[in-house]
Amino acid sequence: MEETCEWCETGKTCATGETVYWELPDGTGAITITGTPSISCNHCGIVYQSPEIVKYIEEQLFLVDRKKLAKKITYSELMALPRVLKRNYFDFS
Ligand SMILES: [Zn+2]
Repeated sequence: MEETCEWCETGKTCATGETVYWELPDGTGAITITGTPSISCNHCGIVYQSPEIVKYIEEQLFLVDRKKLAKKITYSELMALPRVLKRNYFDFS
């Protein structure tokens, strides 16, 4: 799946797994998430997460028991954590 970079509109993007630092929704700190599905550009070098992935991470961090969160976690471990709330009732979409 090769697409033109949204930022420089020149390079080609490819999917990678990146280490990202994510701020917790309650502002108490940040965690390191490794292997986060990301898009990287071979021209300008930008690395970003699609809005979909950002939403998954935000939602998951909001819904899991954050006391059980390690400072560093893999993306798949994070997504496998049980959610405290049955559903995100702040998402009305
Ligand atoms: Zn680019």
